[in-house]
Amino acid sequence: MAKKLALLTTEGLKTLLHAGSPVVALIPVGSVEPHGPHLPLATDTIISEAVAERAAERLEAERGFVALVVPSVPYGVTEFARGFAGAVSVPGAALSAYLRAVVEAYLQGGFAHVCLVNNHLEPDHDAAVRAALVGIDPRRATLACPLTRRWGRTLSDEYKSGACHAGRYETSLMLAASQSSVDAGRALSLPAVGTSLSSAIAGGKRTFLEMGLVAAYTGAPAEATEAEGRELLERLAEMVVVEVTEALAGGDSVVP
Ligand SMILES: [Zn+2]
Repeated sequence: MAKKLALLTTEGLKTLLHAGSPVVALIPVGSVEPHGPHLPLATDTIISEAVAERAAERLEAERGFVALVVPSVPYGVTEFARGFAGAVSVPGAALSAYLRAVVEAYLQGGFAHVCLVNNHLEPDHDAAVRAALVGIDPRRATLACPLTRRWGRTLSDEYKSGACHAGRYETSLMLAASQSSVDAGRALSLPAVGTSLSSAIAGGKRTFLEMGLVAAYTGAPAEATEAEGRELLERLAEMVVVEVTEALAGGDSVVP
């Protein structure tokens, strides 16, 4: 079971911080936005939390760090979803400043490293999350996000196609992370949509509605399985473990 900072006492946390091993904070980052008729508004946050929990277990078991999942940052930049109920967007500059303040607070509080674990993939949101870390020593703070080629290529075919909002990719992850919050019957009834978000963005489309995504999903929710979700969660956790371990090694070839 992953350790959660929010459930510790101040004395319990102090003991961990002084136990002699580097202490890592994993901050799940998400959004409040529509994810089709079958997934909850908090889907991205729930996925980031599940990834952070699995990564924390592995950082402790495999790398010898103390890893804590800390409270999530559940609001993001969600301009694409404008026009749908439940799209709650904040300005990128506000998100950057808030995330940066949270990261700096953990670093000043004795943590060796802070990792932002983000699974809301809208480009302006990604840019705001990245901007939060500019100027901070990269050994002390990292971003783990599948939007890079390094990690995106480790994921599923649907993810790589760009038709990946509340489709097979995210629905599978949700079946593994929080099955009771998926309307599985509804997912099975949904026809596949082949719109690639990356192509639509390149073509100048700025909202789901402009892209023709009238039900706020693209991809194939009906093809989702829990087994695929478990595999994807493991790959996303691997991304976090490697980003954190490499950063703490400081570019040194010796990875603990
Ligand atoms: Zn999502």
